[in-house]
Amino acid sequence: MQCLNLPDDVRQVTLTWRCQGYTVGFVPTMGYWHEGHLSLIRAARARCAKVVASIFINPTQFAPTEDLARYPQDLERDLALAQEAGVDVVFCPDAAAMYEPGHGTWVEVPELSQGLCGASRPGHFRGVATVVTKLFWIVLPHVAFFGEKDWQQLAIIRAMTRQLSCPVEICGCPTVRESDGLAMSSRNVYLTPQERAQAPALYAMLCHLRDLVAAGERRVDVLRTSGQQFLAQHLPLARLDYLEIVHPETLAPQREATSPALAAVALFLGKARLIDNLRIA
Ligand code: AMP
Repeated sequence: MQCLNLPDDVRQVTLTWRCQGYTVGFVPTMGYWHEGHLSLIRAARARCAKVVASIFINPTQFAPTEDLARYPQDLERDLALAQEAGVDVVFCPDAAAMYEPGHGTWVEVPELSQGLCGASRPGHFRGVATVVTKLFWIVLPHVAFFGEKDWQQLAIIRAMTRQLSCPVEICGCPTVRESDGLAMSSRNVYLTPQERAQAPALYAMLCHLRDLVAAGERRVDVLRTSGQQFLAQHLPLARLDYLEIVHPETLAPQREATSPALAAVALFLGKARLIDNLRIA
């Protein structure tokens, strides 16, 4: 396994692979790997002859008030996991290798970036779409793998790739959860034991909404109120950011929870902001 820091060095390797006829899979991450990241690596391994993973805490997707400076890191551990998982190249650039001074070119997908997380994190998805575009130009992958846990991000990357005629196939992978249902996230490390004990209620609430829909409830206002009450009861330490029922592709808020419908939620819990989603119809 090679660990490379410079864009040109990565591109040279992947261009050679492409010329040799190998399929190149790519898994972009911000590091501090858990089973969610490893599931993407395994999906890439299964699909592609060569696998590149990137570890880059992208500054342009963090607002000044957010956790850029304290985002968890353990590069040595990540590299050991990458080696074990059969990654061929890990790309670990520093910010200067990714952004020249005065960087001013941005990729935006406004129609999918305004609601849900975009509403409380202005500029976040512009940073994500821009860095993913740059990483695609550096790695030149055939297929790129993203987690459904970040559903809005996945929808934005799919739209961006399509609209920019980018020759990369986007592969979405299921959310990996702890045994108690909490979606794995690098940010779960911010939780205190008391917060961690309540956190599984986030997923339990989504399952509760799915069960209500299965039992015939379709009214979105009733579902939202029930979800809010569930969280107030089981996750009192949290402050809800949003709970929405949307169309899974357009992300448009639904009036009725008829198929296809996705429940998406974000809340603040101590130092963490947790997100999750579930198809409820
Ligand atoms: P991050 O390092 O948090 O930026 O995540 C890198 C990639 O891993 C993104 O495509 C995420 O959607 C994906 N990911 C993060 N957590 C999970 C999870 N629990 N299950 C599946 N994919 C995940």
